[in-house]
Amino acid sequence: MDRILSMADLGKRVLGGIMGLAVADALGVPVEFMDREVLARDPVVGMRSYGTYNKPAGTWSDDTSMTLCLMSSLSKELNYDEIMRNLLKWYRTGEFTADGDTFDVGTTTRAALERFEKGIPALQCGGYGEYDNGNGSLMRILPLVFYLAARYGVNFHESSEAFEIIHNVSALTHGHPRSQLACGLYLSVAAVILSGVGLEVAVQVGIEKAVEYYGRQPLFVGELDHFSRLTRGHIKATPRAEISSSGYVVASLEAALWCLLNTHDYPSCVLEAVNLGGDTDTVAAIAGGLAGLVYGYEAIPQNWLSVLRRREYLENACHEFSQALAQGI
Ligand SMILES: [Mg+2]
Repeated sequence: MDRILSMADLGKRVLGGIMGLAVADALGVPVEFMDREVLARDPVVGMRSYGTYNKPAGTWSDDTSMTLCLMSSLSKELNYDEIMRNLLKWYRTGEFTADGDTFDVGTTTRAALERFEKGIPALQCGGYGEYDNGNGSLMRILPLVFYLAARYGVNFHESSEAFEIIHNVSALTHGHPRSQLACGLYLSVAAVILSGVGLEVAVQVGIEKAVEYYGRQPLFVGELDHFSRLTRGHIKATPRAEISSSGYVVASLEAALWCLLNTHDYPSCVLEAVNLGGDTDTVAAIAGGLAGLVYGYEAIPQNWLSVLRRREYLENACHEFSQALAQGI
């Protein structure tokens, strides 16, 4: 791997990214589906109890659970069947959850897992219709950046094999090229952040590198138009009113990067994401994963971490994953 990123540093980044994602998810859960105008009158400023799913403060949802499923599988090897088996355990038995209760499962994800249950091969399970472009694969893809950085270096953009892995991991549930491309863009930005570049440049360079790759791929080149606000560098200056925070994968990615680029620390980034309303927990989780990478674990407020359910379990999963990466995959 690149000398620029030591294994010790990678361990810290895993903790920052994954805990950044989990905390943000939990901040958004109580107000999921709430309108921006309603939140403007009573904005979220910290961990809340109850609300949309009637859960205690600090309860994280599908975003963190599915991230854990991927992380746990990657701690052993890259095995698509194993990732699906973990996702199925989460869906059917409540493993990888905050309290044994599986909730907030997306329709495309649900359909894919039920196909796998019926014996369809893992890589053919994901939905690939136009309406299968929710944020269900983007919300769980972050652990893959650490695996790819350990295996190919933080400049994995030069490897088409790395992109193929990203597309396959997305396709387990979300097989449309738009969802795959969104995951590629997101992890490309994450990789440049890992290389130590400052946030704004990292977003710009990460997007450029991904566009360079996708521009040469016939299956994806037509999809780039859907991401034009990102690829043309217009996202930071886009007015808040024009940022949709829906569950559409393009909207969620745009909203997350908009929050990241228009704030200067972890708490304000994830609170901005939650207070956009709509798919609050997922937009916050997507933003929070990158914010955790940028600002580090120490930047996550202690009073949020202290109420996060199963915090120790989550942190142990991060350590196990880092150790597995350090031992080589
Ligand atoms: Mg969720």
